[in-house]
Amino acid sequence: MSNPLSQVGGNNCVMAIAAHPDDVELCCSGVLMMEKMQGKQVVIVDLTEGELGTRGTPEIRRQEAMDALQVMGLDARENLGLPDGFFQSDKESKLAVIRMIRKYRPEIILTNAPNDRHPDHGRAALLVKEAAWMSGLRKIETELDGIAQDAWRPAYVFHFIQDRYLAPHFVYDISPVMEKKLEAIKAYKTQFNTQPDEEPQTYISTPSFLQGIIDRAAMMGKMVGTPYAEGFITEKMVAIGNFDHLIQNIT
Ligand SMILES: [Zn+2]
Repeated sequence: MSNPLSQVGGNNCVMAIAAHPDDVELCCSGVLMMEKMQGKQVVIVDLTEGELGTRGTPEIRRQEAMDALQVMGLDARENLGLPDGFFQSDKESKLAVIRMIRKYRPEIILTNAPNDRHPDHGRAALLVKEAAWMSGLRKIETELDGIAQDAWRPAYVFHFIQDRYLAPHFVYDISPVMEKKLEAIKAYKTQFNTQPDEEPQTYISTPSFLQGIIDRAAMMGKMVGTPYAEGFITEKMVAIGNFDHLIQNIT
């Protein structure tokens, strides 16, 4: 019996939506590159330009985000220009996110941690989760470039794990692309410049922060017997259709 709620016509797309440019590189770029290698269309949507960041300017950060995209070899990157630090899960922000979801029609969305050190992350998680669901309501009408958009609801919204440790519900092996992940992070030269310069040092600009990213990936990998992994949290139960989809390393 077919599921009346099942939908076809997605773009075989995985979309990452996050508060700040570099959230994605730090937390889920491994998965995005793995999905790209398996033939998916992979798109990043940054909610803000990270204009409140201590180091760099919006112009430089914009260039760094595109440099990182190039390193990762993904398909597109969009920026919604919401106000860093002050965006809310309000109607205007939700409609902006819905427009992106309906434009690319992703089956899977990856987004910020539900709560974290930076307060924008939890608010972004709520905004994206709600917008993803509401995007499936046909009576919410949106347009892009003057053309009405069809409703589209992704099958899953997964939250990546950021600064504060949260126990993952599942992990994804990213070992083949770990080196590239670090390369993508380093494309944010103003944020992760580990050489002394005239800009103030921040929590994330020191070598120990980057080492922490490697250690976290190693810890997630350790749980399943792979060198490196990224962890995710899901509200909706994940289903597999085949045990062969499980990584069956002996641990
Ligand atoms: Zn962030």
